[in-house]
Amino acid sequence: MTGKLYVLSGPSGVGKGTLRENALSSKKNLVYSISCTTRKPRNGETDGIEYRFITHEKFEEGIKQNLFLEYAHVHSDYYGTLKQDVINELNSGHNVLLEIDVQGALQVREKIPEAVLIFVAPPSVEVLEKRLRNRNTENEENLKLRLNNAIKELELKDKYDYIIINDDLETASKELNKLIND
Ligand code: ADP
Ligand code: 5GP
Repeated sequence: MTGKLYVLSGPSGVGKGTLRENALSSKKNLVYSISCTTRKPRNGETDGIEYRFITHEKFEEGIKQNLFLEYAHVHSDYYGTLKQDVINELNSGHNVLLEIDVQGALQVREKIPEAVLIFVAPPSVEVLEKRLRNRNTENEENLKLRLNNAIKELELKDKYDYIIINDDLETASKELNKLIND
């Protein structure tokens, strides 16, 4: 394997997607691994772009066939990274970025110890709630679930190689880009 693997985690609404897009547009050798999920697409999401949206049945079949580098049950749905996709990209010399939850990140560390684990934290839980509400993608029940999970995820941030606080977007973006090879 010649490429480097980067794992980005952090609570829902902290800005991972935004930071990821910034990194992908400035790092030409960086590719994003599109996860599989059983969650339903949000407005504006397209199968094969944000995620591969698949059924529970298909996901469980993938688990049995050992197709996932990692997978987890997050906020009541399955999410997972296809092993072969990542290995092919790394073998062809690309750096690969995963945006996955904490459980998944720790599985990646077990399997690929040289992976670089980066945690994105909010300046405060209040700011996180505001961002999540402003994004306007979750109903109240889902929002509460995501905020509760956020508190648990934040407790695990010290297991990561790097922590970036996403307060000012430009500063956080620069910090992330500095960690990623060209
Ligand atoms: P995640 O992918 O972690 O769930 P998003 O990237 O969707 O989070 O960001 C959640 C919301 O917060 C979006 O509306 C995004 O535009 C906004 N956001 C991201 N980073 C910042 C920041 N540093 N300051 C203010 N708003 C931000
Ligand atoms: P969302 O539903 O907001 O797109 O994502 C919810 C959570 O699932 C986020 O914390 C995101 O990082 C995580 N996630 C997305 N893809 C994967 C994946 O392939 N594996 C794991 N373990 N988590 C993922």
